[in-house]
Amino acid sequence: MTASTAPGNLFIVAAPSGAGKSSLIKALLDKYADDSMQVSVSSTTRAPRPGEVDGVHYHFLKVDEFEQRIAAGEFYEWAKVFDNYYGTSRKVVESLLAEGKDVFLDIDWQGAQQVREHYPDVRSIFIVPPSLAILEQRLRARGQDSEEVIAKRMAKAQAEMSHYHEFDYLLVNDDFNDSLNALEHIVMAQRHKMPHQQVRYSQVLKELLGSSD
Ligand code: 5GP
Repeated sequence: MTASTAPGNLFIVAAPSGAGKSSLIKALLDKYADDSMQVSVSSTTRAPRPGEVDGVHYHFLKVDEFEQRIAAGEFYEWAKVFDNYYGTSRKVVESLLAEGKDVFLDIDWQGAQQVREHYPDVRSIFIVPPSLAILEQRLRARGQDSEEVIAKRMAKAQAEMSHYHEFDYLLVNDDFNDSLNALEHIVMAQRHKMPHQQVRYSQVLKELLGSSD
């Protein structure tokens, strides 16, 4: 069967920390381990956390380096989130899409607004926990944060969640497998949209419709 390269699909996945976003994206990518899906590695000026590897979790940059890259137009989108810069490389996203890959941006609501402006075909997904109590429980389970830090994280989570309605899809992550299933369906529905399928299956369609060339 002949398959041409259709441009890939762009997805934004946003969530407050503790909603389970990273685990869901990882599980989806593990399921489709055929290289057809990629998560864009962002750049940030925040310090690496224990276990984070430069170039894998983030590209860790100095503030002046990040600002030079903003000035040079190297970011597809960028935002200041909690006093640190975060941004997505324009070159990486554009080349992955051109290769036909489905690209996931794990970015905040400010970045999502910018991406929608220059890529209206983007599909954006917002993930929330099923309750504040469960969010708090998940944040506590992560480590030994002080009460003050937990309270700050909860406030940040509520600020992030107030933007949920700007997104195309909402996942309430109560049961992990149900959420993974829903995420997969959203991605698959987009993959099968007509313009993509027309490019991907142009030869098949020609044959089916009896075209002579
Ligand atoms: P963290 O520091 O916990 O890794 O991320 C903090 C927040 O920054 C999260 O909401 C995350 O989605 C967001 N973020 C990470 N990378 C980017 C990026 O490239 N652009 C934007 N706009 N936000 C990002």
